Amino acid sequence: MSPRRCVVIGAGILGASVAARLASAGLRVTLLDRDQPGRATSRWSFAWLNSNDKAPRRYHDLNHAGILAWAELAKDLDGDAWYRPVGHVELASAEGTPELTARVHRLTEWGYPARIVDPAEAARLEPALRIPAPGAFFLKEGYLLTEPLIARLVAHAKSHGAELLTGEPGRVTRLEPGAVPRVRTAAGTILEADDVVCCAGRWTPELAAVPLVPWRIPRSTAPGLAVRIGPVTPPGPVRLVHTPELALRPHPGGLLHLEAPDAAVDLHTPESELDRWADELLRRAQRTVHGLDHARVVDRKVCPRPMPIDGQSIVGRLPGTPGVYVAVTHSGVTLAAHLSRLITEDLTTDTPPACLGPYTPARFT
Ligand SMILES: Cc1cc2nc3c(=O)[nH]c(=O)nc-3n(C[C@H](O)[C@H](O)[C@H](O)COP(=O)(O)OP(=O)(O)OC[C@H]3O[C@@H](n4cnc5c(N)ncnc54)[C@H](O)[C@@H]3O)c2cc1C
Repeated sequence: MSPRRCVVIGAGILGASVAARLASAGLRVTLLDRDQPGRATSRWSFAWLNSNDKAPRRYHDLNHAGILAWAELAKDLDGDAWYRPVGHVELASAEGTPELTARVHRLTEWGYPARIVDPAEAARLEPALRIPAPGAFFLKEGYLLTEPLIARLVAHAKSHGAELLTGEPGRVTRLEPGAVPRVRTAAGTILEADDVVCCAGRWTPELAAVPLVPWRIPRSTAPGLAVRIGPVTPPGPVRLVHTPELALRPHPGGLLHLEAPDAAVDLHTPESELDRWADELLRRAQRTVHGLDHARVVDRKVCPRPMPIDGQSIVGRLPGTPGVYVAVTHSGVTLAAHLSRLITEDLTTDTPPACLGPYTPARFT
């Protein structure tokens, strides 16, 4: 029997992970992207591996399994280049302390490593912190460097026979469902497969009918502002840090990657306002950690998240469209290693794993 053919659309963290697993499982994989791999949302992600505040319990468990799946993959896929399980320090304001305490209590009951820390322990855990405050430490959280990771996932898929098509030959213009689903590309080719897995991130609705939060409209909640600053004078922060006004983590090239919960920006926000926010985040970072006396804003980007309308991942066969499978989620960095394993099990056994049941696209019909 010839191996099952699978076309994967999108070479972000999710599509690259799916292509790598399917190719390793012996399927004949074609991976398509209209750009180079890893240049879209995955590139700008805060990339925090966490199940810190995910509800309900089953969604927490899925994300927790996601963190563990990266730890496993790191052993086999040159993890030193992209896996950063550095732990996460969260500092709380006085008003925020009861919520943080309750969260840590709930998470430890659920078997998720977390503990409350006093200001001295917070400072010991992250010596770069300038502000003494109580908080919590999440031992097993961390972050990923998505660009070197995606490069390795694609190389792994190719080493198992996958073909990568980018640019016009990789740009999908139409998906035709059927017993033998067909994918049309901008280069005029038609690819036939046994299954098409659509991992086109926030562009998925252009190819397959799944409901995402509209991200192009003014005041959409999907876009986030990512700001990169540097240089950081060593020794800068090594862990992922949250305060009530800022999220930060180290980034390659001696930089820090910053986000802020109140930076309400969208794709229509004027450049001057984005500059103002970027400078504001720089100032907050300088208040929060040592090593930023000479730092300036190096890069900034408004990037929309692929957000399913009900806040939960969408993974599975699309009803009424034979041969078409979709995978889209706003926790894509945390979940990609685990979801790609589940998707491979689903496609190779024709039996959806029970834990994917709540995330089926059929819930919207
Ligand atoms: C600001 C921000 C912060 C975030 N923070 C976190 C976090 O801390 N933790 C976390 O887990 N997640 C986080 N996320 C979410 C996470 O980054 C995404 O869920 C994840 O990157 C999505 O990966 P993806 O592969 O599905 O999509 P993408 O990385 O967007 O990849 C989709 C690919 O599809 C391609 N494509 C699209 N249409 C076509 C077409 N027609 N033909 C061919 N190719 C096509 C694109 O070129 C792209 O390469 C964050 C997101 C943002 C924006």
